[in-house]
Amino acid sequence: MQIPIEQLLNLPDIQVLNVEITEREIKCDIESTRGYSICHRCGQKATKFFEHAETLTLRHLPICEKDVYLYLRTKRYRCLDCDGRPTTTERCEWYDADAKCTKAFAEFLLRALVNSTIIDVSIKYRVPYDRVRGVLDAYATSIYAERMSALGYHRRAADTSTTIALRQRIAHFLALIVRDPGVRKELVAQGRAALGLDGSGKVDLSRADPDLLRTILRVTVQDAGAPAFDAVTKEFASNRDTNQRYSLLAGLGATRDPALAEKARDFGLDPSVQVGELANIYESNVDEPENRAAAWQWLQAHYAAYRERMPAFRVGYMPKMFADGRCSGAEADELSAFFAPRVKELVGGDRGLSQTLEAIRQCASLREHEGPKALDAWLETRETHGAASKAGSH
Ligand SMILES: [Zn+2]
Repeated sequence: MQIPIEQLLNLPDIQVLNVEITEREIKCDIESTRGYSICHRCGQKATKFFEHAETLTLRHLPICEKDVYLYLRTKRYRCLDCDGRPTTTERCEWYDADAKCTKAFAEFLLRALVNSTIIDVSIKYRVPYDRVRGVLDAYATSIYAERMSALGYHRRAADTSTTIALRQRIAHFLALIVRDPGVRKELVAQGRAALGLDGSGKVDLSRADPDLLRTILRVTVQDAGAPAFDAVTKEFASNRDTNQRYSLLAGLGATRDPALAEKARDFGLDPSVQVGELANIYESNVDEPENRAAAWQWLQAHYAAYRERMPAFRVGYMPKMFADGRCSGAEADELSAFFAPRVKELVGGDRGLSQTLEAIRQCASLREHEGPKALDAWLETRETHGAASKAGSH
């Protein structure tokens, strides 16, 4: 019996044009047989074939332990109903062009992530780290985005404090950690209006939701760049509202533009920023992984000036402040080498440093042990499954 390769791939409306099998990979040239695209103008089916468009490379489920790559030659169709008969490239439900994989493969990676780390999955299945992270982010969005739009982006009269806190946390998570474009767009719109970047030219922070202001300003400075950064700096000079000032500083610190990020860190040394306020800049700055290396360089170069400005009750937290994202013995040693000779002059610094180093080393040992452990657990379930199917065959 011959099994057509289409049946093995188990994808709707495709035909395989060519297959190449190597020791580790199966490469299939395929095309869609569906026969239409959805017109980008009217949303109806565009059915008149126009031309072949780009070829998408898509990862698919492995077959017999071989990595499967599909090369999908996409098609453009004309809409016969719209004026000018516009053309649209076909997109199908069974793949995700941005994630560069089939939905079945994304689902496969998600299952692989259970009790495992992104790095492990990336190594085991030979998928770039960012691609695995993208699949995980899309999953998180699928869980929380609906909740976010139900909660809305503005405080409502009937909101309890729990509802407000939930809105704040989900907005922060989706906008700053997952970086979901849809949620960011909503927040940036409020941020641009509040900073006068929507054409009004006037800063009026009351135009942004007060509970989300901190996240709104962070996202807006990231997306709108220098004009937002400058508007925030200017507003900070005259604003006297404590919470708004904290949010403005967090906005400055959040920039991922290297030059602006350096400017934000330097701004913390400016006397217009009160000593009790500065942590807002630096916490928000090192929250962005892109800033961490430069922030560490900055601290070493400006240590004396920075320490001078830190309030006495905060100096003990200094080692922790710049430790975000550190998760290896070498990174712990680097932090220790810098702070060990300096902690004597920091009230509570001794304790702050040892707690921070302990946390980093715990993270490092978790990373070292989690991989093999997850693999053991996986092998165990495989054996159980094997035994069960064997028993079932009798
Ligand atoms: Zn149309």
